[in-house]
Amino acid sequence: MAKHDPCRVVPGTKVRLKDFKTDDDGGLSKADGEREFAGLCERLTDLQELLYAEGKHALLIVLQAMDAGGKDSTIRNVCGAFNPQGCKVVGFKAPNDVELRHDFLWRVHENTPRLGYIGVFNRSHYEDVLVVRVKDLLPEKRWRARYEHINAFEKILHDEGTTIVKFFLHISKEYQRDRLQRRLEKRDKLWKFDPADLTERARWDDYHAAYEEALSRCSTEHAPWYIIPAERHWHRNLAVARVLVDALESLNMKFPKADFNPDEIVIP
Ligand code: ATP
Ligand code: MG
Repeated sequence: MAKHDPCRVVPGTKVRLKDFKTDDDGGLSKADGEREFAGLCERLTDLQELLYAEGKHALLIVLQAMDAGGKDSTIRNVCGAFNPQGCKVVGFKAPNDVELRHDFLWRVHENTPRLGYIGVFNRSHYEDVLVVRVKDLLPEKRWRARYEHINAFEKILHDEGTTIVKFFLHISKEYQRDRLQRRLEKRDKLWKFDPADLTERARWDDYHAAYEEALSRCSTEHAPWYIIPAERHWHRNLAVARVLVDALESLNMKFPKADFNPDEIVIP
């Protein structure tokens, strides 16, 4: 994995989101960015086939963002490169009664990808140190212990063959207002508007504080966080695709060797 990726949170650093751009274009034109992205998507298609064929590794992609941050669109654009048969997208909503009667990682663990597969989390176990903290759903002692629990959990996944990459799609509060406004104005986007999003928006600073702690404490060598400037969609897609290609290439995967000699086989 690229060690000096500009959007990678170096383990042990204290993140201040204000220091990270939300509208970066990486010094590229949109046309050049889109061209590079198209090439990376072809590469991702090939790498996923290899991942599936080899069956020795899994890839877990975690996506987190404030509302209207573009999680759905990132999944559509970037994960569109994958064969749907080898990729499972899981969305995490507020836990149901049964889930609440288990530890917070129970529902997460059963949705992690098996070897050969890619798993995409649209929201994730990080909600358990984000919304839970911001809305005071549990005493501080409970959610505070979870940073360590999360790091330990991700270490287990990593040690057992899962490559984990975590993306925070970073937008500004003004950008969120524009996107929410657009959902109200465009009738075919209205279904995405949830009046409850305004309550969350009012807690913007609290969410950012919670994100800063999660990004600082849970970006590890085995499961790094990437802060992606997410307001220019073409650049967001490109930045995510670059990280995924790097992550998959660093696995040095090989197609399995045939246990027969293809030259000796004649198809009748
Ligand atoms: P969209 O961006 O399209 O609205 P979404 O991911 O926001 O999609 P929603 O159904 O609107 O989907 O929201 C899911 C909600 O579930 C979020 O408000 C999130 O904070 C909440 N949630 C997820 N995990 C937990 C959790 N562990 N505890 C409490 N709430 C959670
Ligand atoms: Mg929502």
